[in-house]
Amino acid sequence: MGEPEEDPDFIVYDEDDMNEANALKSTIKIDCEKCHGKEGVWWSFQTRSADEPETRFYKCIKCNHTWRDYT
Ligand SMILES: [Zn+2]
Repeated sequence: MGEPEEDPDFIVYDEDDMNEANALKSTIKIDCEKCHGKEGVWWSFQTRSADEPETRFYKCIKCNHTWRDYT
């Protein structure tokens, strides 16, 4: 018996790719600690545990510095 074939319609994107895609949706004012840029994007990432709040990521669009915020 062979391995089950992967469903071609179900593509698992790399987590970073998904974050990039989501990040393009919204631009906000930020304060980048690296280049002191004022414009960036953010996206949220829901952890597996429903008890934990979602983690919010920020990325500076100038220098691509990325950080996260646990609020
Ligand atoms: Zn920056």
